[in-house]
Amino acid sequence: MKDKNPDRKTAVEEKNAEKNSKARDPKQQQEPATPAGQAAPQELAVPAAPSGTRERRFRQTDLPARVIERRKHPRISMEQPLPPAPPCLDDYVSIIGQPELDEIRFLARRLRGKTVKMVNSTAVGGGVAEILNRLIPLMNELEVPTRWDVITGGNDFYEVTKGFHNALHGGEYNLTQQIKDIFMSYSEQTRQRMEFTEDLFIIHDPQPVGLVHSKSQERGKWIWRCHMDLSNAHQGVWDFLKPMIEQYDAAVFSAPAFACQLPIPQYLFYPSIDPLSEKNRELPEEYINKVCDDFGIDRSRPVITQISRFDRLKDPVGVIEAYKLVKKYVDCQLVLAGGGATDDPEGAVVLQEVIEAAGDDPDVIILNLPPWSALEINALQRASTVIVQKSLKEGFGLTVTEGLWKEKPVVAGAVGGIPMQIIHKLTGVLVHSVEGCAYQIRYLLTHPEFATQLGKNGKEHAKENFLITVNLKRWLVLFQILLGMAKPNATI
Ligand code: UDP
Repeated sequence: MKDKNPDRKTAVEEKNAEKNSKARDPKQQQEPATPAGQAAPQELAVPAAPSGTRERRFRQTDLPARVIERRKHPRISMEQPLPPAPPCLDDYVSIIGQPELDEIRFLARRLRGKTVKMVNSTAVGGGVAEILNRLIPLMNELEVPTRWDVITGGNDFYEVTKGFHNALHGGEYNLTQQIKDIFMSYSEQTRQRMEFTEDLFIIHDPQPVGLVHSKSQERGKWIWRCHMDLSNAHQGVWDFLKPMIEQYDAAVFSAPAFACQLPIPQYLFYPSIDPLSEKNRELPEEYINKVCDDFGIDRSRPVITQISRFDRLKDPVGVIEAYKLVKKYVDCQLVLAGGGATDDPEGAVVLQEVIEAAGDDPDVIILNLPPWSALEINALQRASTVIVQKSLKEGFGLTVTEGLWKEKPVVAGAVGGIPMQIIHKLTGVLVHSVEGCAYQIRYLLTHPEFATQLGKNGKEHAKENFLITVNLKRWLVLFQILLGMAKPNATI
């Protein structure tokens, strides 16, 4: 295997790494000014560590044998545990307060008995599944009976929808008639298999968009919930999907900038996290230590973490390059934890690229986790010194929200919905390149007070805007609007 030890990198390799990172990151540009009024970085003009901060060069022999062994064989649970009972609304009172809960119940009262169907393309993995898992039990508790259906397809269907996903994020794509036929034929099969008897249909993202052909004139309102950034969508793919989308009664986007020209009403809903889910609830310190122990993470040294599907748009290789730059100055570990969403056929290939890029550095801990790892992910996020989400393209970026909620300093790509979550230098830091990412991570590792303040601000921002209770309220208001119970100009 090629020696990737940064200490031994030649000048040519350094140059190539920089060139590659620039080629991968189209928005490569000047980094923003440094936090807290510091001078702007020139190249990688990393700040000096305050006195007392440990900066040392990486030496493999520093690691205890037990940790090295655990990294080679992390304890990853291969058995799916029974899911815990979902929380009920009253459980949120300590987080959002009684008046907010009362408002939600009031909004739901008029909708009692109205039925809802949510459809998406995967039951596990990815942000949409994450939200639906929590939203649907709450709607049912409010006596708005809500059902979740997942569309299915063969590998050819998932290849097509993955291609659409990348193209709608602005990638190149060769849309052929055969591709259109594959998409439509699976769409038709699903349509025949499903029943459409509910009052409201919420169809998530482009994969199931064709189900709208089952819309009847007499009954049911159809909402297309788009979690993606369509501002730079591939024209051919958009032209193919648009006639279907135009048949919906409304579209919901995660940011004003994500929306497209459509002749139907459009609404803005931030996605959300559930503060009581296994992914986000408070955890005992002993459990966090146990998870770190299972994965060979040394809590006495800084931990930089990116949790993401192994997807090139999440730029895991760029994160490794940034870590390598930081590692020259600050002894730290990098955790890249992800897993496959069932609708993502590229995951295994990208994981292999990530393993290659990490080389033989034992301080890069790559974890391919099963979908039932919410508690472990929660513990990893809580054990982190800095959370990174160096995406090149992003929908909303729920992993950022999760990091903010856990009061962590988050360093993230200024793409998709991330700038709505990260107000630069106030609730986290935004980056545009590998070098910028490295700079900001190093700054945070060496300025812990600033990092702590960012974490505190980030949690407040997440609480105000991105909790599931806020999202639930918005859905209830939109249902009332579409069913003619409320005026469309109601503030939501
Ligand atoms: N996630 C997970 N396991 C993984 C990787 C990600 O449970 O191996 C979760 C992550 O914690 C977050 C969601 O999947 O809740 C990812 O949502 P995000 O919006 O960040 O990205 P997406 O995958 O939807 O593009």
